[in-house]
Amino acid sequence: VLPLIFGAVAVIALFVPASAHSEEEVRIALAAGRSRVSIEGTKLALFDGEGGVRLAFASAIATLDVRPEEPGVRVDGRGLDRSGAIRAKKLVIEGPDGVRVDGRLYLGRISVEREASGKLIVINRLPIETYLLGIVGSEMSPSWPIESLKAQAVAARTYALQRRMMMRAANRPYDLESTVLSQVYQGAERIRPSVVDAVASTRGEILAFRHQLAEALFHSTCGGQTVSAREAFGTEVPYLAPKKCGFCTGSDRYRWEVSLTLDELGKRLKNAGLGSGKLTALAKRRDGIDLTFGKKKQSVSPKKLRAAVGYTVILSERFDTQAKGQKVIFRGSGFGHGVGMCQWGARGQADRGLGHEEILRHYYSGAEVKRAY
Ligand SMILES: [Zn+2]
Repeated sequence: VLPLIFGAVAVIALFVPASAHSEEEVRIALAAGRSRVSIEGTKLALFDGEGGVRLAFASAIATLDVRPEEPGVRVDGRGLDRSGAIRAKKLVIEGPDGVRVDGRLYLGRISVEREASGKLIVINRLPIETYLLGIVGSEMSPSWPIESLKAQAVAARTYALQRRMMMRAANRPYDLESTVLSQVYQGAERIRPSVVDAVASTRGEILAFRHQLAEALFHSTCGGQTVSAREAFGTEVPYLAPKKCGFCTGSDRYRWEVSLTLDELGKRLKNAGLGSGKLTALAKRRDGIDLTFGKKKQSVSPKKLRAAVGYTVILSERFDTQAKGQKVIFRGSGFGHGVGMCQWGARGQADRGLGHEEILRHYYSGAEVKRAY
């Protein structure tokens, strides 16, 4: 996950009195900019999101075809207790066994409305603990040891609560996206008993620093040492300091190597708006990467280079380069930004018998695990 705010507005009284806080609801944007959405489910109930009036009900399976139509949406359904098109400013759908949106199953409520652009936006609303059931198994394999899944649950809960607070303060229609931009969310598709256990046994636990929600950043593999928030994002965060991690050697991205031709690299850089003309050399220096285009030289940061070449090609910003004829060999360590919890490291620590609080304290040193509800 990427950083949010680094403590800019995160002032909430989470802990006094703890009993006054109950579980929060989160809003996940599943799709935006769509001109059509297909919805399916059993015993679905359709409501008008504005007035709460029930528009239709299905006693068995129903399929809905939703499209934008001024000023809201139009639904053509099969299996409903009324015929003809249904129109609503904002449509809310619920079902006792969840709702399928474009084939994928989600728990909680689904709302569909028309954006200012004239396209549809689909939002899933559900209690945060239910949301976490869909996150933990997407961010980590459900087969990983339970203490690493619990550490992931606490980090993901902290991140979601912080996003929720920030997005509501900014008056946004949703709190989180469903992609790697926030947290990978695949609805109810990957809920497994181990994940349910990890979420339930850490219910309400969050990571706090000086009575505020911490920035619980995490990444796949640090490659031996985590990176400070200052180095990765330019902001000093006391508990996001570099930490030794000898626990992620099990990751096949602990060390990696990729070889690219200067032509390929030149093309990718050009597509990203970097440099001009033919790339004739690329070399890592102490404080950046030198790009040579014939007689012209340009320097870029590892971050910019990774973004330009591709996040899944150059797996981290922690690499060296070696020129070999028309090729450049990149040798690097780790996968991801390297800040906060190393997921493969959490797995390694859990394998060695450490508990989730110890794992979290290792990667977010100075932050504490607390109960928000
Ligand atoms: Zn690590």
